[in-house]
Amino acid sequence: MDILVTGGAGFIGSNFVRFLLNERNDSVTTLDALTYAGSRDNLDGVLDNPNHEFVEGDIRDRELVNELVADVDVVVNFAAESHVDRSINGAEPFVSTNVQGTQTLLDASLEADIDRFLQISTDEVYGEIHEGLFTEDDPLNPRNPYSATKAGADLLVQSYRETHDLPVLITRTCNNFGPRQHPEKLIPKFIKRAAEGETLPVYGDGSNVREWIYVEDNCTALDTVLREGEIGEVYNIGSGVELSNLETTEKILEAVGGSSDQIEFVEDRAGHDQRYAIDATKTKELGWEPEWSFEDGLEACVDYYLETDQ
Ligand code: NAD
Repeated sequence: MDILVTGGAGFIGSNFVRFLLNERNDSVTTLDALTYAGSRDNLDGVLDNPNHEFVEGDIRDRELVNELVADVDVVVNFAAESHVDRSINGAEPFVSTNVQGTQTLLDASLEADIDRFLQISTDEVYGEIHEGLFTEDDPLNPRNPYSATKAGADLLVQSYRETHDLPVLITRTCNNFGPRQHPEKLIPKFIKRAAEGETLPVYGDGSNVREWIYVEDNCTALDTVLREGEIGEVYNIGSGVELSNLETTEKILEAVGGSSDQIEFVEDRAGHDQRYAIDATKTKELGWEPEWSFEDGLEACVDYYLETDQ
C-alpha cells in the first residue's frame, strides 16, 4: 500500500512509520509540521529508506495535503496537539490542528477517492469511568479541551462516512508509553527526574487510574485495524493494564532505583478524569493481542531514556 502518515515525526507516529517500513512492504510518506513535539531524530534510521519520503508541512495546508493525498491509497492521521495540560492553558492550536486539520485531510481524501482513512483517536473522548469498561458504543463525553477536540474530529470523520461514504476507520487507544515520547509526558519525565534524584510531581493524591499500552503493541493493533477492520467502525485498543498514577510512579522509582521520598503531591489538574478504561474485545476479534507486560515495557523505556538525550 501507499500510505500517508501524518504526525509521523511524533511519538506514536514515528514508531508506526518504523513498523510499516521494517515489518510491511508499504511505501510511506510522512507529513509532519515538526512542532515542538515532532522531530526528524524520531525517524533516525528510516529517513533514507527508499520506500519512505519525509515532507515537512502542515495538515491544514490544503494545497500540500491535496497533492500528497492524491498519490496514496491510505491516510493515517496521527497529527495532533496532544498534551492535555497545554490544552488547558490554551485551546486554540488544539481546535485548529485537531479539528480543522482533520477536516482538510478528509476533504482531500474525498477528492482523491482513497481506499481507507484511519483516524487515530483516544480513550479520553469517552470521558472518565468509575467502574467497568467503555465500549465503542458508549457516548462521547470529553472533559478537557484536548479530548473535546479529538471527539470533534471523531464526529467529523464519522459524518464523512455517513454523508459522503468515505471509507473511514477510527481507533481509540489508551495511554501509550515507549521510546520517542516527548519528555513533557509522565513516563519519560519521571524516568529522567527519578534518575537525577529530583522530585516527581504527582497530581492530587495520585489515585487517578490510567490504562497503559506499550507503543509497539499499539502499532500492531493499528496495523491490524487498518488491514482487517470493517469500514465505518470504531475500534478500542487497550492492554487491560490499569495503574493509578501513584502506582506508576512507584514502579518507575523501583525500575530506576529511586526513593519514595522523591514523590511530591501537587495541586490536581483542573477537570482531571478519575479513571479511563476500555474494552478492546472488538480489536482482539480481528486477531490482535498485546504482547508486552508493563514491567518489560518500562525496562525498555528506562534503557532508552537514560541512554539518549531525550
Ligand atoms: P505527539 O505530540 O508526540 O506527536 C504529534 C505529531 O503531530 C508531532 O510530530 C507534531 O509535530 C505533529 N503535528 C502537530 N500539529 C501538526 C500539524 N498541524 N500538521 C502536521 N503535523 C502536526 O503525539 P502522540 O502521543 O504521538 O499522539 C499521536 C496521536 O495519537 C494523536 O492524534 C493523539 O491524540 C493520539 N493518541 C495518543 C495517545 C498517547 O498516549 N500518546 C493515546 C491515544 C491516542
